[in-house]
Amino acid sequence: MPIHEKSLIRPENLIRNEQLIIDGVDVSGDWSTFIAPRVITDYNEALEPEIAALPGGEHIHRCWQCGSCSNACTVNALNPDFNPRYWIYLIRLGLESELLRDKDIIWQCVSCNKCTHICPRDVDPEGVMKATARWLELKGHTPPSPAMEFDNIFSAQVITTGRIEEGRLLRKFFAHTGQKLTQDWLLGLVRGLVMRMPVGLLLRLGWAGVRAPRTRKWASTQRAIEEFIIEQEAAQRVALGLPPGETR
Ligand code: SF4
Ligand code: SF4
Repeated sequence: MPIHEKSLIRPENLIRNEQLIIDGVDVSGDWSTFIAPRVITDYNEALEPEIAALPGGEHIHRCWQCGSCSNACTVNALNPDFNPRYWIYLIRLGLESELLRDKDIIWQCVSCNKCTHICPRDVDPEGVMKATARWLELKGHTPPSPAMEFDNIFSAQVITTGRIEEGRLLRKFFAHTGQKLTQDWLLGLVRGLVMRMPVGLLLRLGWAGVRAPRTRKWASTQRAIEEFIIEQEAAQRVALGLPPGETR
């Protein structure tokens, strides 16, 4: 399927004749814009299977490039360079160097899942974005992204306590990423919540933030989840041809 978004073609590959007359017909300017032919030699045939081996990437082969995901995407509406359809296209063709041009924005997916709901082929584009961000990280192309840091802190809390406690989660994430807790938007959010929430619930939340409650009889579940994660992470490293990494 051709790429039909002009913005995706590098400017140096666009040829435009300001003055061109062919058989007496004036085709100057836009009428004579061509894409320069190019030869691609750096295919990575392992790119699609490697991303398909990571959680969320399993159904990438189903994509038929309809573009509904990019059309519905929350981030694409703000930044047209964030283009899930295009990245899936690159991955399926093994165009690694093209994909790497966008390595610093792929992690910005906000997991709204609009793409997942609209995709006619059940590709799970949101999962593919996560798998791609993880692939970039495992291959050393990007440092762990803030989104991945958040996921790790969130998962660690759930695995350790069997519960989610938002206040503690946010505090840890902010401390880990060197952000102040006194940011205006956060203070405004907390103020709004405090004014709307029943006092009993507020007290319970405050107490949970201090006491870090755990789900009763959680230890064996925690062990099982940890073993599963270690197994999965080891399998992913093997699929990506990476040496064994640190275990949790
Ligand atoms: S909506 Fe689904 S099938 Fe269409 S381009 Fe996106 S991932 Fe591919
Ligand atoms: S989940 Fe990510 S890729 Fe999908 S629509 Fe939302 S921001 Fe875009």
